[in-house]
Amino acid sequence: MDFDFSEEQRMFKEAIHSFAEKEISPLVDEAEKTATFPLQLFPKMGELGYLCVRYPAEYGGAGIGKIGDCISVEEVSYFSVGIAAGTMVQGGIGTSAIYARGSEDQKQKYLVPAIAGQRIAAFGLTEPNAGSDAASIETIATKRNGKYVLNGTKMFITNGNICDFVVVAAYTDKSKGARGGVSLFVVEKGTPGFTRSKLHKFCARSGEIAELTFEDCAVPEENLIGEEGRGFPYLMETLMGGRISHAARSLGLARVAYDESLEYAKARVQFGQPIAKFQTNAFKLARMAMELEAARWLVYYAAWLYDQDKPYVKEAAMAKLYASEVAAHITTEALQINGGYGLMEESVAQRYFRDARLGTITEGTSEIQQLVISREIGIR
Ligand SMILES: Cc1cc2nc3c(=O)[nH]c(=O)nc-3n(C[C@H](O)[C@H](O)[C@H](O)COP(=O)(O)OP(=O)(O)OC[C@H]3O[C@@H](n4cnc5c(N)ncnc54)[C@H](O)[C@@H]3O)c2cc1C
Repeated sequence: MDFDFSEEQRMFKEAIHSFAEKEISPLVDEAEKTATFPLQLFPKMGELGYLCVRYPAEYGGAGIGKIGDCISVEEVSYFSVGIAAGTMVQGGIGTSAIYARGSEDQKQKYLVPAIAGQRIAAFGLTEPNAGSDAASIETIATKRNGKYVLNGTKMFITNGNICDFVVVAAYTDKSKGARGGVSLFVVEKGTPGFTRSKLHKFCARSGEIAELTFEDCAVPEENLIGEEGRGFPYLMETLMGGRISHAARSLGLARVAYDESLEYAKARVQFGQPIAKFQTNAFKLARMAMELEAARWLVYYAAWLYDQDKPYVKEAAMAKLYASEVAAHITTEALQINGGYGLMEESVAQRYFRDARLGTITEGTSEIQQLVISREIGIR
């Protein structure tokens, strides 16, 4: 078994880390304070080919697969989980269905400019009455005069208020149930009947989310992605692959919280010695290092399975569940190691602690990941 990154992957990791350090890190404080995504990053990252790296070169991607995608998400998250949330949607759930199931025209119109950072993507599944239970969505799309007319509301949509287009899930035929009655549509910003309002959260503030409303919002027939009624299986494909990138986001956050805690514990002196030398802190840091390593293997193993076209559903759910819980634990320990300084507003430790909350809830809560794993091990 070869557990190492290839030369190409190693070089990409260094390049994206150094880009994020130079170009993203200086924007983070202001973006967090104002709860605003720095929009200039989309064209900048797109131009350098850093936005949607897993897509093939023919559409402008780097063609470096899920492992490449995870490297990119991990390194951006090392500097900002909020910003990674926005860029992740662009290379993940906002464009996955278009890439996998869309027409060539849709790919040229939406995927290619998204990869180049010229158009911002979003993905709208969650609704006020449908979160974990995605089949209970109430948005409907009715075919009328050669168009689909959408009515419904989408909740907590990342990039929702800044996107140029959003992939929306809606029932085209409720009588067929979710598996045969849901379809996916691309809705463009500015379409009459499509309105959005920004929502505010206490964590990952630079990643913007919004509530989207569709009121008699008519989209052309050609905005249907793939086949009518096949939306639910397409959604599952999107979400299952997305879990691995999500896990990489938690990994990046856990890593920075660990790195900075270790450095702080070695530098901070109490009772005449670095606090790292007190066994309670040394053991905390040892456990953090171990958890980080285990999470890393799970994330990149799941990504490798995905890239090899091998079954990956169980491992993707395990990676998301484990890495997000590791991030929650490591960021909590990091806060304790930082003492009173960690509680100050200007401390990054408190930001890491807040940001970790995102990982166990979004794109399938920890409970839902356990449901998936239990099904995969034969409990139905
Ligand atoms: C910051 C942020 C960004 C988001 N971005 C997007 C986006 O871009 N697009 C999008 O479509 N959605 C997005 N979401 C929605 C997100 O995926 C949902 O919040 C998440 O899936 C949980 O749904 P819910 O909040 O309705 O919680 P609920 O489903 O109401 O769950 C509440 C609690 O009950 C538990 N629970 C529910 N069902 C079960 C069960 N069967 N067994 C055991 N426990 C259960 C859950 O685990 C949770 O603890 C985002 C959410 C946030 C907060």
